Amino acid sequence: MTINRRDFLRAGVGGTAAVAACATMTPAPAEARGNRTVPENAVGLLYDSTLCIGCKACMSACKEANNLGLEDNIGGKLWDSPLELSGKTYNVIKVYQHGTMANKDKAENGFAHLKRQCLHCTDPSCVSACPVTAMTKDPVTGVVGYDKDACIGCRYCVAACPFGVPQFQYDTPTPQIAKCQLCKHLMAEGKFAACAAQCPTGATIFGTHKALSAEIERRQAMKPGEANLFPRRTVDSGDNHERAAAEYVPQVYGAKELGGTQVRYLSGVPFDKLGLPVGLPERSYSSVSETMQSTLYGGLIAPVVVLAGLVAAAWRGSKSHHDDE
Ligand code: SF4
Ligand code: SF4
Ligand code: SF4
Repeated sequence: MTINRRDFLRAGVGGTAAVAACATMTPAPAEARGNRTVPENAVGLLYDSTLCIGCKACMSACKEANNLGLEDNIGGKLWDSPLELSGKTYNVIKVYQHGTMANKDKAENGFAHLKRQCLHCTDPSCVSACPVTAMTKDPVTGVVGYDKDACIGCRYCVAACPFGVPQFQYDTPTPQIAKCQLCKHLMAEGKFAACAAQCPTGATIFGTHKALSAEIERRQAMKPGEANLFPRRTVDSGDNHERAAAEYVPQVYGAKELGGTQVRYLSGVPFDKLGLPVGLPERSYSSVSETMQSTLYGGLIAPVVVLAGLVAAAWRGSKSHHDDE
């Protein structure tokens, strides 16, 4: 997908009041630059939709590990069943459904799951847009973290994220931004992502970015229907289970999108059907916005103004792509 000048300007003009207000805050101009790269020892997740059974154990584990409350909209029911990311939900399992839903991981008369969470972008827009460095990317692990004490509640990160991830807690007098931080507090204790630790099928596994890249290549080389071993919890746990390989679509979501992400996806169903924005450029929005800010505007425009325009244009492009089908 390409974003033309008209789309960008229209998105910018049609932006929210919050985004318009951003123009009054002008951080120091950034240097013209290209995409940032994945840190040498980066970690991440692989979510393989074909292994996911929709049990939502990862959602419960995420709530428990991050001390997140129940949603308010459950109307006296006994359990929490969020349908979207929210101020109390960092991780949600969604389902694609078509026709009779008889075929798992097929687009036609089928169904498939999608795990929605922060993708821990290699070159994150949220970090670029944040005027007070409350959003940061760890130089060693690559985890995109959030510092509630530094946050001023401007919500620039919400406007700038191309994947609609950060959520503002509107229902509390002391709101914060809510998003997955890859359970970095558990990593500090020698543990790892709670969602991966609890996933019974290995649909979500944790590992180094490099080891996950090798695992992705291994899975892509599998013949559909052939018996293969799939690890649970971590990519090198040795706790493998055997099952027939699914037929993957020839795309690894997060391999190239906007400079890549450290949470990557494999699926049997095209990613646009799962609800992820497709056709994104390989150049990160952060590098585009910081370069425009530096070279065109000499620092007189905040990165979030450019980022919000790019994100809005991308979603519009993604939507019209769906509408064209
Ligand atoms: S997915 Fe959104 S919130 Fe997460 S790192 Fe990327 S830009 Fe930031
Ligand atoms: S890594 Fe942690 S915070 Fe992120 S989705 Fe998994 S359990 Fe939730
Ligand atoms: S725990 Fe694993 S199998 Fe269950 S919903 Fe989450 S990712 Fe899917």
